[in-house]
Amino acid sequence: MSVLVINSGSSSIKYQLVDPDTGEAVATGLVERIGEENGLIRHTYGDRVREIEGPVADHGVGLETAIGLFEEIGPSLTDGAIRAVGHRVVQGGKYFDGPALIDDAVQAKIEELCPLAPLHNPAHLKGIVVARRLLPDVPHVVVFDTAFFQSLPDEAAVYALDRDIAERYEVRRYGAHGTSHHYVSGRVADILGRDDLRQIVLHLGNGASVSAVESGRAVETSMGLTPLEGLVMGTRTGDIDPAVVFHLARVGGMSIDELDTLFNRGSGLKGLTGENDMRLVRSMAAAGDERARTALDVYAHRIVKYIGAYAATMGGLDAITFTAGVGENDADLRADVIGRLEPFGVKINQELNAARSKEPRILSTADSRVAVLVVPTNEELAIARQAMSLV
Ligand code: ADP
Repeated sequence: MSVLVINSGSSSIKYQLVDPDTGEAVATGLVERIGEENGLIRHTYGDRVREIEGPVADHGVGLETAIGLFEEIGPSLTDGAIRAVGHRVVQGGKYFDGPALIDDAVQAKIEELCPLAPLHNPAHLKGIVVARRLLPDVPHVVVFDTAFFQSLPDEAAVYALDRDIAERYEVRRYGAHGTSHHYVSGRVADILGRDDLRQIVLHLGNGASVSAVESGRAVETSMGLTPLEGLVMGTRTGDIDPAVVFHLARVGGMSIDELDTLFNRGSGLKGLTGENDMRLVRSMAAAGDERARTALDVYAHRIVKYIGAYAATMGGLDAITFTAGVGENDADLRADVIGRLEPFGVKINQELNAARSKEPRILSTADSRVAVLVVPTNEELAIARQAMSLV
């Protein structure tokens, strides 16, 4: 009995058929460049891979083709093979602190929340609408990126903005990547065999965020109203003085849409170096590129600044965990960050840090004052398990 997990983006759909018990990804697939001439659909089942190149008109056509590939390549989705469809949605606003069974009212709420996540929710909604139409006989469950952070105390969630305006426009810290922070912090508690931990989780992928988790409850996170705030990301600024917006509008003559694109798609590592992939930035730095070196310093410095802040707000720290593409794979980044924390007695074993592995692992030395771990995230599995909890 499996769960079909769907992550629908503005021009892509990623899907995985997950066994929620074993955690196995039974089949995976990708629909890319929807609406463009050079679309691509790739479906993988065991060692069978099928690729279809050519225009994919819209999300409906993409998902319909993918469902057809389940029948052609396997495994078949008919005859009750799937127990639920789990949908990832970035923004659940103040309405959802856990997964929800999708009905017309929940779907309408997700639509209502589009202004709070204009780059994400409309794309998720397209996936939900076509998946409900194509797979009408299974329950559909939505898992929100913001849900884990509904527990933030006011002191962390409230911006020091005029109260009436903040309330009218629902401006507050919602966070994002919550499914990953929830899953990873839970794994850390299992691995260390303790629930009463003060943890910092660093989710460093293309998007990047950090959270503070106390005894399983999120108390701080770096993403804010939208996923733009916080750490330096592949293409996003992260924290920046909001007055840069006024300055670039007044003096640079830039429109709000141009600034949105600049901050979300043309900044971060890409803005600093021309590349958003950390591997490329590292090889540029190794070849002596000064801009790439500065970018790596800005990236690590920002992380360390957050670790210090969160350790202080929690009144102590038991574990720091790295996850996602950069966090799981970039040993140099981990060594750089932890090296900067050495004055606080945080130490890792360099050999363990350099070893490549797909397994969760502890990197810290026995005498380190804080445990340091790598825990591969698995948002699809977390979504599948949350979906199962409702059906
Ligand atoms: P997304 O946020 O898109 O889900 P991932 O979590 O898959 O992203 O992370 C993707 C990023 O991980 C890539 O952009 C790349 O910079 C980084 N990455 C992957 N492997 C490595 C590696 N070996 N060293 C450094 N960075 C890596």
